[in-house]
Amino acid sequence: MKLIDGKKIASEILDSLTHKIEQFPRKIGLAFLLVGENQASLAYVRMKKKACSRIGIQSIVKEYPADTSQEELLKEISQLNLDPQIDGILVQLPLPAHFDTLRVTRSIAPEKDVDGFHPINMGKLLLGEADGFLPCTPHGIQQLLAHTLPIEGKHVVIVGRSNIVGKPLAVLLSQKKKGANATVTLAHSQSKNLSEITQTADILIAAIGQPRFIKKEMVRPGCVVIDVGINRVQNEEKLVGDVDFDAVAPIASWITPVPGGVGPMTIAMLMQNTLESATRRG
Ligand code: NDP
Repeated sequence: MKLIDGKKIASEILDSLTHKIEQFPRKIGLAFLLVGENQASLAYVRMKKKACSRIGIQSIVKEYPADTSQEELLKEISQLNLDPQIDGILVQLPLPAHFDTLRVTRSIAPEKDVDGFHPINMGKLLLGEADGFLPCTPHGIQQLLAHTLPIEGKHVVIVGRSNIVGKPLAVLLSQKKKGANATVTLAHSQSKNLSEITQTADILIAAIGQPRFIKKEMVRPGCVVIDVGINRVQNEEKLVGDVDFDAVAPIASWITPVPGGVGPMTIAMLMQNTLESATRRG
């Protein structure tokens, strides 16, 4: 078994972005909007902000109490949409229950939607158009795979079909493009005989949100395993992935750790999208 070192690959990407940002003729700005005090969201924004300062992107974090109205948030977004110093806008999800998340996502100008969640950017991904923004976690996973092995013609099984990970990832890896061209199976909670499906994978990607869900028996020896999951488990200090790492790692050919696998790549792709936005906007 070999470890796919997402932290190292992400760090190399950040270094190459730093060089480009130093040469960029103006400051690049990224705005984070954070509603409520979800501890995981606070931690994610902190990590993203740290990456910004490492590579020279100016970040602002706008924090709102959990009872903020949707109108207030939409008003803030429309101001940021018009602000020439802001190249990217990121609303940290999940939002409190009284928000219509899709409506909020849609209110971000597509050309500043560095998370890639706006329907226009999702549509461009589906059509294979290159001038949108790719969602950061799927793009980060594709980059991890590209660093590890050729995926053309491989059978990729993705477990999880969310709009932010599984579904766009299935589209991305099955594109008729270099670095893609995989045969993709998208499994979910209604899939029958899940174990039989996962055992057919050359590359197995777990994006489920259930700690240690993927057991050794579900994995074909020699499989490449990508663990997207980030789970907090009671009485355990460390974060836990969706894969039973200790049991699966010995039979996998490659595997990502949690933490230090997909997570850092998500942040690196966010930084890349922000530079891309600034470059397009001039
Ligand atoms: P969601 O909860 O939105 O989606 C989970 C998916 O898993 C759903 O499609 C669901 O199926 C499927 N699923 C749930 N239980 C089962 C089961 N028993 N068998 C088969 N499929 C099942 O999660 P996200 O996609 O947002 O996140 C998934 C994980 O990835 C989480 O741990 C999250 O924290 C992590 N994550 C990590 C990121 C990173 O940067 N590393 C970024 C984003 C997320 P159904 O659709 O039928 O309900």
